[in-house]
Amino acid sequence: MADEDVKLIDEKGIRLDGRRFDELRPISIEAGVLKRADGSAYLEWGENKVLAAVYGPREMHPRHAQNPSRAVVQARYNMAAFSVPDRKRPGPDRRSVEISKIMSEALEEIVFVEQFPRASIDVFVEVLEASAGTRCAALTAASVALADAGIPMSDIISSCAAGKIDGQIVLDLGKKEDNYGEADVPLGMVPSSGKITLLQMDGNLTLEEYKQVMELAMGACKKIYQLQRDALKRRYSTSLKNFEEMADDTEEV
Ligand code: UDP
Repeated sequence: MADEDVKLIDEKGIRLDGRRFDELRPISIEAGVLKRADGSAYLEWGENKVLAAVYGPREMHPRHAQNPSRAVVQARYNMAAFSVPDRKRPGPDRRSVEISKIMSEALEEIVFVEQFPRASIDVFVEVLEASAGTRCAALTAASVALADAGIPMSDIISSCAAGKIDGQIVLDLGKKEDNYGEADVPLGMVPSSGKITLLQMDGNLTLEEYKQVMELAMGACKKIYQLQRDALKRRYSTSLKNFEEMADDTEEV
């Protein structure tokens, strides 16, 4: 909620970390970072660091949880005890159960779940360092990991938040902005179709402000989508290069 003592944006419109209202924190994504997982991704977003691993489709356990007509996407969001300055108590809490649920629901919107009856597609996200916006970072990384696993799906989800600080609408709130700002709206969408797969709001906005927030967040999702695609392309071209090198080695023998 708003705190009168903390000034989050100066007269020139510059935020605490030097960004303007419509700037994202730096984002880097790498696909295929884990050998044992079927798909994986590592993402850094400002000071957030998250690792996503996908296993499946595989037989769902326990069996009574199976759905005979489609696969179940089970996302598990976990914050490491060392991910925040005050030690986070290990294990699930209300917040991580909530984030796991909204991630599962969002991802079920893009995966062709009807192709895998009785199966489970497990998506694990470990937050190694957290500094606001981790649910958006987690969903963005999970989408890349699902694509890396070759799971049939309609497209990938990109996610970003926008909100309000010191009475102004801004993109991608940082930690202090999240703590002392007036509103935070995390959005997940499929940029190619405009389909919204996650939408939450913490705080209050007028209808006009809400429209501005959505416009900013949706614009950012399109940029993030490009970064996700680039990460997958890099992964694919690296695999192809390795394959070509292997073929060359075989020819030389
Ligand atoms: N946070 C924390 N301890 C916790 C949960 C959250 O320090 O147990 C911090 C963490 O930096 C997180 C931020 O508070 O990124 C904002 O949390 P929120 O619930 O708004 O989710 P997020 O913005 O990460 O999606």
